[in-house]
Amino acid sequence: MLRLEGPLARTDIVRRAGLSRATVSNLLTQLLDRELVREGVDGRRLGAGGRPPALVDLEPTAAAGVGIDIGRTHVRVVVADLGLNVLAEDVQRVDVPDHPEETLELVVAITRRLLQGSGVKRTELLGVGVGLPGPVDRASGRLGSATILPGWVGFAPRAELEKRLRSPVLVENDANLGALAEGLLGAGRGSRVLAYVKVAAGVGAGFLVDGRLFRGASGTAGEIGHTTLANSGPVCRCGNRGCLEQLAGATALLAQMAAAGVELDGVEALLRLATDGHAGARRVLADAGEHIGLAVANLVSLLDPDRVVVGGELGAADELLVGPLRYAARSAAVTTAGSSIDIVAAELGERAEVLGAVALVLREPVSLGAELLARR
Ligand SMILES: [Zn+2]
Repeated sequence: MLRLEGPLARTDIVRRAGLSRATVSNLLTQLLDRELVREGVDGRRLGAGGRPPALVDLEPTAAAGVGIDIGRTHVRVVVADLGLNVLAEDVQRVDVPDHPEETLELVVAITRRLLQGSGVKRTELLGVGVGLPGPVDRASGRLGSATILPGWVGFAPRAELEKRLRSPVLVENDANLGALAEGLLGAGRGSRVLAYVKVAAGVGAGFLVDGRLFRGASGTAGEIGHTTLANSGPVCRCGNRGCLEQLAGATALLAQMAAAGVELDGVEALLRLATDGHAGARRVLADAGEHIGLAVANLVSLLDPDRVVVGGELGAADELLVGPLRYAARSAAVTTAGSSIDIVAAELGERAEVLGAVALVLREPVSLGAELLARR
C-alpha cells in the first residue's frame, strides 16, 4: 500500500487495509525495525492548524531498482532508490534492431557498472524493469511481431537478463512505461484516467487507471499506431492497410520530407528545421498532429480519459504537433456538453520510458517486495 499510495497516516492504513489497529501497528513495528519504512510529521501540513498527523513512508534508501529502456538507436539505464531518486544513469547510441544478443551484452555491462558506482548492494536490489518498443506478451515475455525491432521478434529478453543479472526482471511495452512515469512524475500527475501517446518511430499508447497500468487481456492494449485511418492506404508492416503509424510515425515523416527534396538524418533534424520556420517541416508535423488527433479522438470516445499526454521523440515538437492534434481530437471526439479533453505535451522527454521501467519495479504491486523482506 505504501509503494502504491504512500505516504499515509496510520489511521489511513488501518481504514484502507481493513485490518485491526493492533495488526497494523504490529506490522509497522516490524517494517520500522527493518528500516524499510520511516515515520515522521508531514512538513507540508505544518501550520494548517491542529497537530499534523505523523505519516508512514517508504525509507528511500531501503531498496533500489534498475530501469532499462531499449529503443531503436539507443539503450538507457538508470539506478534509482525506493523514493524514485535517480542514483546513476547512462545512455549509449547503438544499432539495436537486428542485434538482440549484442544489445543485451551492452545493457548488462552498463547495469553492472552503474550498480557498482552507486553503491547499491545486491541485497538491496528489488529487480530490473525493461522497456521495449512493441507489444510484450505477458505470459512469455516475448516481443510480438508489431515491434519496430525485427531481429527481436520471438526473442525472450526477460529470461536472458535474469540469467545474466541474477535478479528478477520485468519486461514491459515502452508506451506503458511512459504512461507510468508521466503519471507518477510528469505531466500526468493528478490524473485518474490517463492516456499517454508516444510518437516516435512507432506510435503507441499506454493507459494508467487509478495509478495502475491497464494492459488489456494479453498486454497489447494501446496499439494505437496500428489503428486504421485509411483502409485503402499502403500496406503496413503489421499486415493491415493505412495504419496511423504510416501517416504519422517518424519514418513516414522523414519519407515525406525526402519526397519534397529534403533529406534528413533523423527526427532531431526535422524538429530543428521546423523550429527555424521551414514551411515544409512545419506542415509535415501539423499533418501528423492532425492524423494522431483523429486516432486520439477515437481513443477518447472509447476510454474517456481525463488527460492525454503526448510524448516520444516527436512529442518534443510541442505545440507544432500538439496544437493541430488537440484541435483535431476536440473536433472529432464525443464528449459531454461543455467539456473538452485535456491534451498536453509530456514533461519527462526521452527519460520517460527508463523512469517508468524503474518505477515498474519499485511501485507496481508485484511479489518482488516480499523477497526483499525475506532477505533483510
Ligand atoms: Zn500497422
